[in-house]
Formats: sequence, structure tokens, C-alpha cells
Amino acid sequence: MAVPVRNVVVIGGGVCGLATAHRLVRAGLPVTLLESSDQLGGLGTFFPSRGRWVERFYHCVMPTDDALLGLLDEVGLRESIGWQRTTMGMVVEGRHHSFNSALDLLRFRPLSLVDRVRFGVVSLLLRRLGKGEDLDRLRTEDWLRGLYGDAVWTTLLAPMFGAKFGSAFGDVPALYLWQRLGRESNDSVRGYPVGGYKSVIDALRASIEDRGGVVRTSAPVARLETAGDRVFVTLADGSVVEADHAVSTVPLPALREIADSSLAARLPEVRLRYQGVVNALFFLRKPLSGHYWAPVLRSGTDFDGVIEMSALSGTEPYDGRHLVYVMRYTDRESALYREDPDAIASRWTSQLLDLYPGVEPADVDEVRVFKAPFVEPVYPLGYLTDRPAVEVPGTRLLLATTAHVYPNVTSWNSSVELANAVTDRLLRTARRPTPQEIDAWSAESAR
Ligand SMILES: Cc1cc2nc3c(=O)[nH]c(=O)nc-3n(C[C@H](O)[C@H](O)[C@H](O)COP(=O)(O)OP(=O)(O)OC[C@H]3O[C@@H](n4cnc5c(N)ncnc54)[C@H](O)[C@@H]3O)c2cc1C
Repeated sequence: MAVPVRNVVVIGGGVCGLATAHRLVRAGLPVTLLESSDQLGGLGTFFPSRGRWVERFYHCVMPTDDALLGLLDEVGLRESIGWQRTTMGMVVEGRHHSFNSALDLLRFRPLSLVDRVRFGVVSLLLRRLGKGEDLDRLRTEDWLRGLYGDAVWTTLLAPMFGAKFGSAFGDVPALYLWQRLGRESNDSVRGYPVGGYKSVIDALRASIEDRGGVVRTSAPVARLETAGDRVFVTLADGSVVEADHAVSTVPLPALREIADSSLAARLPEVRLRYQGVVNALFFLRKPLSGHYWAPVLRSGTDFDGVIEMSALSGTEPYDGRHLVYVMRYTDRESALYREDPDAIASRWTSQLLDLYPGVEPADVDEVRVFKAPFVEPVYPLGYLTDRPAVEVPGTRLLLATTAHVYPNVTSWNSSVELANAVTDRLLRTARRPTPQEIDAWSAESAR
């Protein structure tokens, strides 16, 4: 029989925590969300710039992001997504290529003519070729080398996709790439919310608070314990929140650090490596190339991708300036990750100027560097079977983290889909308290 819920605690105020709390309060459950930082949004969070709010890390919505679009519908923001056809460039050994049409591919000198044709044909068929294969147990390198050939793998694919997972890319299950191609569906249309991602985060917070939920920022969870049918959450200030159920959205390595020893022993055994990211934003007085996205291969830069965000969002959110993100995914222990942000900003500025000779130092108005330690779990082969369950056995704790979204790609959409699944699971065993139960609990706590 479903038990009445006095309190659910959601740990983490990224999109997964916000979507979870939003769904639970809509179902009538009393929810408290705890976020360690002074801002909500997690990896989608923002910083102030000239009276506006700008995402620290580039973000866009894809037309296939059904779960996210459904959530936006619920908070009245679906129509706020501005859709735009975008283009892609490719920088190889310092030379710039457009990479959008069959003609672009035929002109793409880094590959031989035979390989260009092979690349085009295989890319068109790739999703279909993967059907029926056990891609979860097939190394990406084995799959792609076999289909595209050695030259395409070595020249293009290994450095391009390796940019996300580092040297381990070849070992990641081919299923990840297959899913990613499904999300992107060869579609160049991308979306960006008018008002930025902060407008979505604000709307979710308002939805939670309007229904009586509590959202606390600057509330880092220092310790998490479970005992029988209770969960005890100790905050860094020593206060304790007791709950009937908890949902943790913090990355698994960070969760292990706050779990008490008996809970830690129940957490999933899987130890994933995570790629972090170092990411610099350039506010420019002129556009760079007009391409939304350009991988940068063997061009003498530390970064390996350029996102010209204003090609999608326009320049209005940046006070008329053009916004470019450049990034390098890397381990949080790497020398680059540990390097001083000012040193990174200065070196990456000269590398960007070398790469785009049309841009002068005077065109660079402002540079900001942000880092995040846990961005992409590096999934091992067979992870579909080894992926941890969302339930932690013998406890009232549910997990909803980026380690659980596989085979979907890490994205806001996947986090919302996961939040929906976890919420459904919780609602199967829990029910909203009746007014009489709430009165009885208040009387009990007043005694
Ligand atoms: C460079 C970059 C580009 C990206 N591009 C896109 C894109 O274009 N489109 C897209 O959809 N997605 C994109 N993503 C991915 C997307 O941002 C993530 O998949 C998503 O934000 C994950 O949300 P989450 O809530 O699961 O985790 P997180 O955002 O990591 O949230 C976890 C939250 O838990 C909090 N927390 C941690 N420890 C504690 C604690 N002890 N107590 C309380 N709170 C705690 C953290 O502060 C954080 O707010 C991008 C990410 C990056 C870094």
C-alpha cells in the first residue's frame, strides 16, 4: 500500500533535481531541494554580464528533445525556444572548411577523394547499419574503423570524437555514438531559449515554490545517511533535514564522499571515470565564422572545438557582442584543468587569434574561463547491463545522475527523461499526505 510522504529531499539543483522537484510537487508531495552552490542550474548555470545572464557552458536544444520540450510546455516556455538552422565548420591543420553539404565534402581536402565518398555514404547509412548490432559491446573504434576505413578514422573521427572522451574514445561503446546521431538526426536546426537558460531555471524554481516546495541554495549536503525508512541529510552548517525519501542527482564520485559508511557500502559498485571540461568564453566585436560548431583538429591549439553561440542566439543577449565558446574536455586531475584561469585565458586568446587571422586583438572585448569536474562519464563496454539501478537497495534513496542516462547522451533532455522515470518510480510507492495527516504531523512536531 502506498505510504503518505511527509517530506522528500532532492539533492542537487541542476536540471535533473529541478525537474524532479517540479514533478513531485505537481503530484502533491512536500519537497525540499538542496543545492550547494549559490545558484541553481548545475552545468547549465550562468554568470552576470552587462546586466544579462550568460551560460557558463554552451547549451542548445535539439528538435528531438521531447522530454525537455514537454517540461518547457508545463512551465509555459516551449514557445520561448527560438529555432535556427545552423552550419558546421571544420578546422584541420589550421585550414578552415565548411562541412554541411555533399559539395563541401567533395571539396574536403584532408581526405582522399575515395575516402570523401566513403565518408558520405557511410554517414548517411550509419544509423541503419547499427540496427540489430550489439553496439553496447562493440568498441567505437572497431565499429567506425571497419565501416569508414583506417584513413577516415585516423584523420577525422578519432581526433573529433576523442575530443570528448580523451584517449578512451575508441573504447567507449559504439551505442553512445549511435544514440547521439539519433538525437541530432543529421538536423542542423537548433534551439535556444529567449531569455537564456536562466529563464528556464527561474521558471522551474517558481513552479516548485508556487506549489509549496522549498528550494534552498548555498545548502551543501555534507553527510547523507539512511536508516530503515528514514533518510538523514546533514548540511554543512550542521543542521539536519529528515526525510521519507531522497533523490540524489549529484555525480556518483561526489555522492560517495558525502555518504556515511553504511550507505557507501550500498552504493553502486561501478567506478566510472569522468571527463571534466575547461571552457573559455570570448565576447567579440565581430563574428568569427558564422558556423555554430567547428571541431579543431591538429591545429596547434589546446582547445579542440569552437562554438559560435551568437550564430544561434543572436548578439542581443550579449549587448551586441558575438559570443564564442572554445573548450577542451579533460580529466579534473590534468595539468590543464589545474592551471590558473588567467593563464588559460591569455594563451587561448592568442591561439584563437592565430586560428582566425581576420580577428584582431582589439576585437576581443572580454574573456572568461569556467571549468567543471564531472561532465561526461566515460562509459565502459557492456554498460547497458552494468548501468547502476536508480534504487539503492534497502534504502529510501533514489539516484538520478548522468551515470544513469546512458545510452542517451548527457543533455538536459536526458536528465529530464531520467527525472520523469525516477519520479514515476517514487510515486508508485508514495502518496500525497491528506490534510488530516498534515495536521497530525504539525501537532506532533509542536509537542
Ligand atoms: C560544456 C558543456 C556543454 C553542454 N552542452 C549541452 C547542450 O548543448 N545541450 C544540452 O542539453 N546539454 C548540454 N550539456 C550537458 C548538460 O549540461 C548536463 O547533461 C546536465 O546539465 C546535467 O544535469 P544534472 O542536473 O544531471 O547534473 P548537474 O548539472 O551536474 O547538477 C548537479 C547539481 O548537484 C549539485 N551538488 C553537487 N554536490 C552537492 C552537494 N553535496 N549538496 C548539494 N548539491 C550538490 C551541483 O552543484 C549541481 O548543481 C553540456 C554540458 C557542458 C559542461
